[in-house]
Amino acid sequence: MNKEIENIMEEYILLYDIVSKKPVFWISDYKIPFSEVENFDVRMSDIQDAEERLERFKPFLKNEFEELVASDGLIESELTKIKKMEKKLKLKGSLYLKQDNELQVAGSIKARGGIYEVLKHTEKLAFENNLIDEFSSYEELSKEENKKFFSKYTIQVGSTGNLGLSIGIISAKIGYKVIVHMSSDAKTWKKDLLREKGVKVVEYPDDYSRAVEEGRRLSDLDKYSYFIDDEKSLDLFLGYGVAASRLKKQLEAEKIKVDSKNPLFVYLPCGVGGGPGGIAFGLKLLYGDNVHCFFAEPTHSPCMLIGMYTKTYDKYSVQDFGLDNRTIADGLAVGRASGFVSRALIELLNGVYTVTDDELYKYQYELYNSEKIYLEPSACAGFKGVVEVENEERLELYLKNNSKYMKNATHIVWGTGGSLVPEPIRDKQLSIGKNINI
Ligand SMILES: *Cc1c(COP(=O)(O)O)cnc(C)c1O
Repeated sequence: MNKEIENIMEEYILLYDIVSKKPVFWISDYKIPFSEVENFDVRMSDIQDAEERLERFKPFLKNEFEELVASDGLIESELTKIKKMEKKLKLKGSLYLKQDNELQVAGSIKARGGIYEVLKHTEKLAFENNLIDEFSSYEELSKEENKKFFSKYTIQVGSTGNLGLSIGIISAKIGYKVIVHMSSDAKTWKKDLLREKGVKVVEYPDDYSRAVEEGRRLSDLDKYSYFIDDEKSLDLFLGYGVAASRLKKQLEAEKIKVDSKNPLFVYLPCGVGGGPGGIAFGLKLLYGDNVHCFFAEPTHSPCMLIGMYTKTYDKYSVQDFGLDNRTIADGLAVGRASGFVSRALIELLNGVYTVTDDELYKYQYELYNSEKIYLEPSACAGFKGVVEVENEERLELYLKNNSKYMKNATHIVWGTGGSLVPEPIRDKQLSIGKNINI
């Protein structure tokens, strides 16, 4: 470790636990009352604009994907009460799972941001080239001649796996050529599935940030290529943000109150930050101080925690602190946080905590055993947060005199992925979790 890092370590003492891979729970000192937040990087109207765009694409999506016929082209997941898991974890509040693991088309949270950005780019090209106008039904885009038009263009993206799947699947349907730049630790079945869909997969021996960097560079050399930039993209963020108002509708339909006496807690697994960031941002705009958002990261890849806690944002990678970025949670195996997201949330986010691989396996098994729901390991990071927040000591520290309302709390664990994971891999993971005691 160099001098610069040593100095930071001295100033931010929690880093000693972080670099020794001990699970930590950081409650942010930077969060301020919602009414005092002044500089929003994104406004509600930006998220509404994204919602309207997705609405316009519904006829096309319904036309292209069997699984979207029932929902009339809407890509959205269920909010499921998981009573048995709630009992198992001995919670005072109520426990829900937001089932992005079942999100149509891409089987993960990436179906929100990834698909949205590809559609936005497509709409732009389609208007510029008069394939559609403001009076058209977007079903027009399913025509052979239009798909042929898009085949001149390439979409490129860097991915640990799921973003590549989401973008690969939607882009191939529209007609684009697709190149996905992946870290070599991306799961083999994800690479195989992409190749099956006609996607070109390029692998990099280094980690994710390097795959993004190379993808960005190669795409910039080709004027017919568009790069989806997970570390910087506002469109990805907005696509994810749409989840917030949809969740609000689901909570209202379930008659779940959210106010100062009925707090809402949301636990979001975090990789580079776009997914959890967009959702947390959207929720804060809707619920202000009554929603408490926490990010969850692997102990080996706590890039958002380091970036926010030390307010150095994307300056350092976890490797700079001697961590290896190796984890079973491939969706969260990101060494450097998004600078844009970490800054956008610094006054809004309630905290970040870390989980070990063993804890992920254990929660994965417990959920499957009690509810018969399978989540991929990354998607299980939320559960630890609920347990921690309900822990008396932690609560005292966090909520101070508000803890009397904890029995009214609604906890939502964001189940970010899983439905595309092949059966043999699931079985293997579950058998590991069964034998772990934590
Ligand atoms: C990508 C991913 C996340 C986190 O999203 P980021 O935008 O990378 O922070 C969480 N869970 C799963 C399963 C993912 O694939």
